[in-house]
Amino acid sequence: MLRLSVHDLKTMATCATSEAITMTKKRPCPICKRPRTEEFAPFCSQRCKDRDLAQWFGDGYSVPGKPVDPEQIAASDWDNQD
Ligand SMILES: [Zn+2]
Repeated sequence: MLRLSVHDLKTMATCATSEAITMTKKRPCPICKRPRTEEFAPFCSQRCKDRDLAQWFGDGYSVPGKPVDPEQIAASDWDNQD
């Protein structure tokens, strides 16, 4: 049987909380996984914000044609910018 003291439980809870905060801070843009910016949070750019909206309204993941990885699109777009 697993026996935990109150101290152990408190320590576990503290660790879980601090980890959750860290995860939130480090959570990247959900579209391209690059670091988000404050201006376009939770995305990194207007481009990704629009992309997310397009997916909601147009079900962008199931458009006809060749299946593409959204991350690949974002990466190539990014490369073309500079
Ligand atoms: Zn992005």
